[in-house]
Amino acid sequence: MSSDANNNCCSGIIELVVIEQNIPKCPVCREAGRLVKNVTVRHIVNKEFLESINNLDFAICMNESCNTVYFSLDEHVIIEKKQVKEPIWYKNDADPKYACYCNKVTFDQVKDAVRSIGNKNMNKVIEYTGAMKNCQCEIYNPLGICCHETIKKAIDEA
Ligand SMILES: [Zn+2]
Repeated sequence: MSSDANNNCCSGIIELVVIEQNIPKCPVCREAGRLVKNVTVRHIVNKEFLESINNLDFAICMNESCNTVYFSLDEHVIIEKKQVKEPIWYKNDADPKYACYCNKVTFDQVKDAVRSIGNKNMNKVIEYTGAMKNCQCEIYNPLGICCHETIKKAIDEA
């Protein structure tokens, strides 16, 4: 167990919990999605779609090759990659691929940091890149969750 587990920058965010049989499925690819808050969707969709977002419940498609980003749980509203303001980091052609959306730190910057520092120390990488400062992941991260896990993934890939 590493001390990195305590680096969560958004301890105030209450995670949405889903029971197994209610995992939302993307209406386009039928793969599992993940619940996101309405407020997260609102901040990331292009403004012409705000009206259709209304106060619906949404999930995000986790399939890296699917063009769908958000879908309403009633499946009436589908928001695609080209209809959001930021590239979704895990989708195939995401460019740039952000690890920390709040501070616009990319996977490449994290990997460069690991090379410059010479090791994979999470705290040093965060300090070097400026990631996880004044985070508001609930509205800037497309999944509405803390970027800590994504930064860790980028470090692991380095
Ligand atoms: Zn999908």
